[in-house]
Amino acid sequence: MKPASVTLPPIVVETARAVHAAMERRIGPMPKACHAGCSACCHQIVDVLNWEASLVTDFITQEMPTARRDRAREQAEAWLRTFNAITRAATPAAPLRPEEVNAARVEFRRLRVACPFLIEGQCTIYPVRPVVCRSHIVETDPEACARDIGRVGTEAARQVAREEVRAFDPAIHPLSGMPLVLQVAGALGVRQAVKPLLVPVRRATPAAPAAPR
Ligand code: SF4
Ligand code: SF4
Repeated sequence: MKPASVTLPPIVVETARAVHAAMERRIGPMPKACHAGCSACCHQIVDVLNWEASLVTDFITQEMPTARRDRAREQAEAWLRTFNAITRAATPAAPLRPEEVNAARVEFRRLRVACPFLIEGQCTIYPVRPVVCRSHIVETDPEACARDIGRVGTEAARQVAREEVRAFDPAIHPLSGMPLVLQVAGALGVRQAVKPLLVPVRRATPAAPAAPR
């Protein structure tokens, strides 16, 4: 039995697991060239939605073996050194803007900076890996991913992700994502500064009121 979440109400955990399970069910059978140990696509900044960050935090603090967590922390510190070196100084009053983070994304792809959770070619948070990772598959030529880190994945799988995250009420769980590492650095115990970001909040358009009869 999985330990109870320390950061998320049970209903959120249940919904998150249901979203992940639905994605596995729908994306799993899709044709794909992806295979175990293939990880070129993990060499870029990946985002998490707010409920996903909490799920990963729980996993890190409750389920990740200590040695693996230590290794991920060291890699996250290296990741943050790179991120901090290529972005300007930021303060709560002057956080990094989305376009500045996007510029860092381009640079991370150019430098092929690996996700800190990639250890020996494997995702070490696989059971709780973000929706963006779950929905990123390609049907042909895995080598093309190494040549083009920003390669766009299969649209059908991306559409599944868009549909399944609707299980979360955007009024409570805004759809905006933030870089995974910045979100879970505290849980890993990193000893590097984590710069504040201005998070663009995208909320679904509220349902139109029912027309009067
Ligand atoms: S998206 Fe590309 S790099 Fe990532 S697992 Fe699939 S084939 Fe490999
Ligand atoms: S969370 Fe896992 S699947 Fe996603 S980029 Fe990191 S190592 Fe790769």
